[in-house]
Amino acid sequence: MTKKQPGEQRPHVLVVEDEESFVDALSVGLDREGFDVTIARDGLEAVSLSEKHHFDVVLLDLMLPKMSGLDVCRSIRSRSSVPIIIVSAKGEEVDMVLMLEIGADDYVTKPYRLRELVARIRAVLRRRRGDDEDNVDEEILQGNIRMDLDARRCFVDGDEIKLRKKEFALLRLLLENPGRVLTREVLIDRVWGSDYVGDTKTLDVHIKRLRTLIEDEPKNPSHITTVRGVGYRYEITKS
Ligand code: CA
Repeated sequence: MTKKQPGEQRPHVLVVEDEESFVDALSVGLDREGFDVTIARDGLEAVSLSEKHHFDVVLLDLMLPKMSGLDVCRSIRSRSSVPIIIVSAKGEEVDMVLMLEIGADDYVTKPYRLRELVARIRAVLRRRRGDDEDNVDEEILQGNIRMDLDARRCFVDGDEIKLRKKEFALLRLLLENPGRVLTREVLIDRVWGSDYVGDTKTLDVHIKRLRTLIEDEPKNPSHITTVRGVGYRYEITKS
């Protein structure tokens, strides 16, 4: 639970959602996690609110009355760079490429756990902060792993593990996006960029070595999981 400190800015989330059960759960849950919440119950209200007020994150359901989530995303994106997380229902056909093209930052599928959602909201806020100020958090904490970014050191259960430069960058990228699938293309582009001269196995070799260092059972990983044909995901640590 996040307690509000005097003078502390709570991130303001615009929740665009028409299902009452989700509205109720999110209002209570996000408030408890340290966010201010404003609800829009249809697409037009979402656009109107986003024009009048500043939000730090928009959580945007796709299937909405009056105006679709995709059109809401396009409209908001045409005048704001606020991070947008798309929410789709299970079984809904979702074109991820289209979503990224129209400017969504991330997506989550219903039903989701509040914990997963909060991790994703924090991740987009952190990424945005990094983009804006070009500075970094000094450390990343995820479950039993701690990365000290300034000193370039990494600890598992308090014991330091030695990582090479690319391994450090790869683990950091995964830890900064817990619960989110990172495609092979994104991982290669962000960690290697134009330095990627190896064959397509280079990424897998690095993942394999990270697993030997951080997994209890490297051959049966519970932290860095493979999403077949797509990429890898860092699983959110259950507490
Ligand atoms: Ca809906």
